[in-house]
Amino acid sequence: MVFLPVRSSQRQIDTLDEAAAFFATRQRIVVLTGAGVSTDSGIPDYRGDGTPRRKSMTLDEFMSSAQARRRYWAGSHLGWAHFNRTRPNPSHYAIARMQQAGKLTAVLTQNVDVLHERAGTQGVVHIHGTVNTVSCLTCGATYARGDISEALVAANGDYFDQAAVIRPDGDAEVSPGDDFVIPQCVRCGGILKPDVVFFGETVDPMITAQSFASIDAADALLVAGSSLVVNSGMKMVQRARRANVPVIVVNRGETKGDRYATVRLEGSTSTILPVLAQALS
Ligand SMILES: [Zn+2]
Repeated sequence: MVFLPVRSSQRQIDTLDEAAAFFATRQRIVVLTGAGVSTDSGIPDYRGDGTPRRKSMTLDEFMSSAQARRRYWAGSHLGWAHFNRTRPNPSHYAIARMQQAGKLTAVLTQNVDVLHERAGTQGVVHIHGTVNTVSCLTCGATYARGDISEALVAANGDYFDQAAVIRPDGDAEVSPGDDFVIPQCVRCGGILKPDVVFFGETVDPMITAQSFASIDAADALLVAGSSLVVNSGMKMVQRARRANVPVIVVNRGETKGDRYATVRLEGSTSTILPVLAQALS
């Protein structure tokens, strides 16, 4: 049976079996994942349906004062520590299996966690950066997050015992005092910042170009666990549409890309992605 790409207004592919059959015909798939794939690992999707979106710190705010940086680093450390305790879920393992089946040409993620890597996926492109490295904004020196975190904990004692609400961008609600010591570059004394794309910051143009090239050469774009509210994700869908690459959207709740989807599957990525991965093998 052959399924031709159809527009959502005349959708012919509307069951998981049909979607899996369509997916199985794809040979060069680009995967784009969002916060939804990590929610079952215990990382909340604060942009998810019904959840108010809190304002994340902007780069301007981060640069504006030492107090802002203390607040950022205190929260960011709690977020990072939480990320380290989380484990990949069936969504991440399904994507790793798709890659092992030789059908993925790129894995793009909006997530700053590294759960795809922990599930065994290689060459993940982090559109919004990751929490695992830290860079000096002055000299560009890069540090492992673990080393910076050790220094942070050593300098700030029991501060981190306090409870915090963890946010998926690795930031948490905290208000450290003036005595909170933030890390600085040991090479030049410059300001250190995790390699995460801050709210309002633009995505590295090299990463965008690389992602576009992957999509142009693909025969499917699988969007998993993203409501596509963030512009960087929607750009990928629009690129696929211009290149006539079928878009498959798997998400719990509506997405901004639904009208461009050839296949739209409603539900948890932990349930649906394993079925699609099975279809490829
Ligand atoms: Zn430096």
